[in-house]
Amino acid sequence: MRKVQNFGDDRNKGWCVHCGGPNETRDHGPPLIFLDDPLPRDLPTSPSCLDCNQSFSSDEAYVAALIECVLAGCADPSAIERPKVAALLRRRKSLQSDLRSARSERHGRTFHQADEKRIKSVVLKLGRCHVAHELNEPRPDEPRSVWWRPIMLLTAGQLDHFEHGDDGALVPWPEVGSRAMMRMMMEGTNVFGSGWLEVQQGRYRFLVSQDGGLRVRMVIREYLACEVAWD
Ligand SMILES: [Zn+2]
Repeated sequence: MRKVQNFGDDRNKGWCVHCGGPNETRDHGPPLIFLDDPLPRDLPTSPSCLDCNQSFSSDEAYVAALIECVLAGCADPSAIERPKVAALLRRRKSLQSDLRSARSERHGRTFHQADEKRIKSVVLKLGRCHVAHELNEPRPDEPRSVWWRPIMLLTAGQLDHFEHGDDGALVPWPEVGSRAMMRMMMEGTNVFGSGWLEVQQGRYRFLVSQDGGLRVRMVIREYLACEVAWD
């Protein structure tokens, strides 16, 4: 990703974007386990307290591994496409056995029982990172809605709406000095309504918009569609 300076105010520099606590470290959004080597340069990071930062890492590993297991149809590291996640599963036997036992077969089809709480924690974290980083709008409060769904389970209408935003509806421009505004000026990238920012092809992309509040859409591994919205 191209590095874009943030000339905004200090709202998102002084405290943890997740809980409003102290600014003790930088939190990667998206996490490195969602991306493959060579990593893109200038990955987005947001201020975080140590507790929040550490609390996400096992849930992030779970989500990355869950998606690979679903795509591979099993939890066997040798069948996993992404080497980083295969190595993770070899290292963490408990994660591997959790994912193996979450898998079941019915009528010849494979199902995975996902841990919704862990997925929600990661989706919400990502939403908070993106609104803080792109819009200078830290939102440690509870969002109006959080959802996620495998992209192939969206109906054609839902997918069209998800991918193309709000059909060119008039939306406020981003705050002057925010990264979103700087991207529009420097790169011609309109992240509002139609412009997805691709962090790594096939691995992670996201879109922020301000229609009727703040909204972040993310696609993880071109498999999981996610959205977080605040009033
Ligand atoms: Zn925190």
